[in-house]
Amino acid sequence: MQTDRFDVIVVGGGHAGTEAAAAAARMGAATALVTHAFATVGEMSCNPAIGGLGKGHLVREIDALDGLMGRAADAAGIQFRLLNRSKGPAVQGPRAQIDRSLYRRAIQAAVRSIPNLTIIEAGVDDVLTDDDKRVTGIRTAQGRELRAGAVVLTTGTFLRGLIHMGDTRIPAGRVGEAPSVALADRLYALGLPMGRLKTGTPARLDGSTIAWDRLDMQAGDDPPEPFSFLTDQITTPQIACGITHTNGRTHAIIRANLDRAPMYSGAITSTGPRYCPSIEDKVVRFADRTSHQIFLEPEGLDDDTVYPNGVSTSLPADVQQAFLETIPGLEQVRIKRPGYAIEYDHVDPRELDPTLELRRLPGLFLAGQINGTTGYEEAAAQGIMAGVNAALKASGRAQGLAISRADAYLGVMIDDLVTRGVSEPYRMFTSRAEYRLRLRADNADQRLTPLGQAVGCVGAERSQAHGVKAAALTMGRARLDRLALTPNEAARHGLAINQDGRRRSAFELLAHASVDVTALRRIWPELDSLAPTTLDQLAVDARYASYVERQAADVAVLRRDEETLIPRDFEYMGLPGLSVELQTKLARQRPATIAHAARIDGMTPAALLLLLAHTKRRAERKSA
Ligand code: FAD
Repeated sequence: MQTDRFDVIVVGGGHAGTEAAAAAARMGAATALVTHAFATVGEMSCNPAIGGLGKGHLVREIDALDGLMGRAADAAGIQFRLLNRSKGPAVQGPRAQIDRSLYRRAIQAAVRSIPNLTIIEAGVDDVLTDDDKRVTGIRTAQGRELRAGAVVLTTGTFLRGLIHMGDTRIPAGRVGEAPSVALADRLYALGLPMGRLKTGTPARLDGSTIAWDRLDMQAGDDPPEPFSFLTDQITTPQIACGITHTNGRTHAIIRANLDRAPMYSGAITSTGPRYCPSIEDKVVRFADRTSHQIFLEPEGLDDDTVYPNGVSTSLPADVQQAFLETIPGLEQVRIKRPGYAIEYDHVDPRELDPTLELRRLPGLFLAGQINGTTGYEEAAAQGIMAGVNAALKASGRAQGLAISRADAYLGVMIDDLVTRGVSEPYRMFTSRAEYRLRLRADNADQRLTPLGQAVGCVGAERSQAHGVKAAALTMGRARLDRLALTPNEAARHGLAINQDGRRRSAFELLAHASVDVTALRRIWPELDSLAPTTLDQLAVDARYASYVERQAADVAVLRRDEETLIPRDFEYMGLPGLSVELQTKLARQRPATIAHAARIDGMTPAALLLLLAHTKRRAERKSA
């Protein structure tokens, strides 16, 4: 029988929405995923790739919380590469080129297999509320009303989406899909501060018209390294990508047609992702560069569509054809679909609590591009957090889940969004994390799976696998701590260790760049009984142990500040000693903790001390 009452409703079946719906349902919440079309669930709007620097960390963290993205990418990955391989594991980023249709299939199959999850194909026009004080459900474009204790909006680039290609403008959420206008109007009516951002995508090329034999080719890693902690091996066939470059002729054509580019003709005024500029932007901003690299990435094993990574553009189609033909290997290229730019509305994420719940409308959560981010991984990571918190809210639990900056990139991103807001599409980078030596892609499960288990978003299969792995690491670590050598003994085994007379455990020895697992196995053959993966993980842990220890004091201060809650109704206005500018900012953002207050733009140490003193005094008065 069809029901119209759920615990959690998720609007939008993109990367944020599928993770949100799956997480809420895993936690036992009766969940509805309401999206325009099930066929587009798992759709990659832009580049056919998952992961990369910073983004790969997010995928592992999503996976550690039992999310879908890592496993789907493993099933659909056609070229895996560990970026920054020559650097330390802390800044290495797993990335994979993805077969679009395999990815869609994997996500759709995963979503379908989750009990408690109902999929409803509809556009959502309205958010239902109890007198605008609390969210109670949604209304579809057809007028159907669904009720729930919590609603998550994950509408991506669809809010008043407007596509630009030359001087052509088409209202759309993605090419060929209608925008969400009524829902955007509703958010404006709620009085939410909104912004407008833009992003773009390149033309899609017919691979059979590319002269591959004249291009440099780049293969992936062999063997490919999976994203998911649950994937043993990648079995999808692997392919190579082509590499080519723009040149002076390409740039001349682009320059000559800048007046036809919406960014330069004034048709687009919103801000795009600074680190992912269009080719016209690159030609203007880096005028001294005579060439830009382009990766020609096949979009699938059975698909001859090619994604030219590096030439996103909103120039008219005839200019796109003309500049592409100047590029080596693309002289005869046929465009399957021209590139375009899209402008869309987003909500100022400073309106959100760290649980991704809107402060002014309890029960309404936002995740993904709607919060001003860009990228599948950023969206999915917010999705899982919003789904978990929506399920907690719907079940009546007062305490939501907020993850610290010290524990995850996911925590860094959400903290950045809710305290700093966005002035351009927010993208994850390793440089955003101050504790990045702790936050490695390799240890995401050690950091987050126990947190996920505690709130109930980790299923039985992962819990079991994690338990086995954690026990093996504990046992392995104990063994490495028991085995020890003096520097003299180490020297006899050919290890270059400081001759300071200090006995070192096998774990401490592994911290030395010159000592590896093979050397230890030679010295202590009994280590052969430890699984290679266990020993490899312990070697990485050992390498970072002293840095992590050194950061421990800073982390302790952060945790203390994160635990110092500021009451929601704290009266900032008129607080003596606080500038009017800060009073206004704090009153608007209502930081949940002292740690959040500290990161608000313009906050000074003196103002923070004042805030801390008042918070403490108020708490003391209350308890008295
Ligand atoms: P989406 O994946 O967009 O999913 C939104 C979902 O919500 C869709 O399924 C839609 O049908 C549904 N929906 C929307 N409104 C409603 C409604 N009212 N009712 C029901 N369902 C609704 N990212 C990068 O990192 N780099 C790039 O260069 C880049 N370029 C891009 C270029 C283009 C043209 C586009 C469209 C996106 C680009 N992206 C890029 C962004 C990337 O695609 C998004 O960041 C990511 O998909 C966001 O995920 P999401 O879940 O927030 O939204």
